[in-house]
Amino acid sequence: MQPAVFLDRDNTLIANDGDLGDPNQVRLMDGVAGALKRLHDAGYRLIVVTNQGGVARGKYTEEDVDAVHQRIAALIDEAAETDGMLDRFYYCPYHPQASVEEYRRDHPWRKPHPGMLLQAARDLHIDLAQSWLIGDQPRDIQAGRAAGCRAILLNHGRSRHEPAEQRAEDATEEATEIAGTLESAVEVILNAAPARASTTARRTNLADDVAPAPTPMPASHSPRDVPDDTLRQMRQSMQELAEEIRLERMQRGDFSPLMMVAVLFQLLALLLALLGMLQLEQPAAFMNWMIGAGLVQLLVITTLLFDARR
Ligand SMILES: [Mg+2]
Repeated sequence: MQPAVFLDRDNTLIANDGDLGDPNQVRLMDGVAGALKRLHDAGYRLIVVTNQGGVARGKYTEEDVDAVHQRIAALIDEAAETDGMLDRFYYCPYHPQASVEEYRRDHPWRKPHPGMLLQAARDLHIDLAQSWLIGDQPRDIQAGRAAGCRAILLNHGRSRHEPAEQRAEDATEEATEIAGTLESAVEVILNAAPARASTTARRTNLADDVAPAPTPMPASHSPRDVPDDTLRQMRQSMQELAEEIRLERMQRGDFSPLMMVAVLFQLLALLLALLGMLQLEQPAAFMNWMIGAGLVQLLVITTLLFDARR
C-alpha cells in the first residue's frame, strides 16, 4: 500500500476550457512538470482522474482521449526529464444527458462520485487515507473526500469571495486546503503530517512495498475495462459468503459424537436412579445406586462442557 496524489486533468495539468480531442492542442500549465516531479520523488503515485463528457457529447472519441493522454504523459516526462512520471489515467466518458446514446447514463466513475479513485486504489494498492486529490472544480473535491482522501482546491489565484467562486463554496468548505497553483498545492502536501487514519506503513517504508512494474507509458483506463472483472469479484465474494453461512448452519445443527456420548450417559444415569428407587427399602443399596447415578450425571455434564468448547 502506498500513497497517491490524484490529479484532475483539465485546468489542473493542462489548459483546457473546451472540448479537447486533438493531442497537438495539449498545453501543460506552468510549473506542472516540476511540481509533479517533487511528488514523484517523495514516493507518491501520480494518477490522473478526469471526466470526459465530450465523448458522451460526440465531440471526440475514446481513442482521441487516449491520444491526448499519451501526449500529456510524454510532455510531462520530457519536461521533468524522468520516465513514467504519471502512473495511470482514468477517465469517465459517460454523461447522464449524453447525445451519444451508448454513453447516456450516470456512472460511479463520474466525479463527484469517487469510482475512479476507488478503482485506482484496487488496481495499484493505494492507501486512500494517506492520499490526496488536487482539482479545480467542486466535483473534484467531492470525489476526493468521498474516497477518504485529503483534497486541495486550486483556485488559480481567485479570491474565495469572488462571484465565480461562489458556486464552489460548498467544496471550499469541504477542501482540506485551497491553493493558488499546483506548485503551492504540492508544497501543502509535502509539508503535511501523515493522516491519522493511516492504514499502512509510512512513506519511508515504500521501498519494501510490492508495486506493479512501471510501464513506459501510462495506460488509459475507462470504465469499460473493468465492469466484468468487478462483477466477477463481487459474484465470487457473494458465493464465498453464502458458503460460509451454509457451513455455519451445518455446524450448529450438527449432532456431534460427544453429544451422542452425553445422551447415552444421561440415559445410564436415569437408569441407575430408577434402579435405586426400586431399592428404597434397603437404604445402603439405595445410596449406592444413587451415588452411581450422580457420578454418571457428572460425566454427562463434563461431556457437554467439552462439546460446547469444541
Ligand atoms: Mg478541471
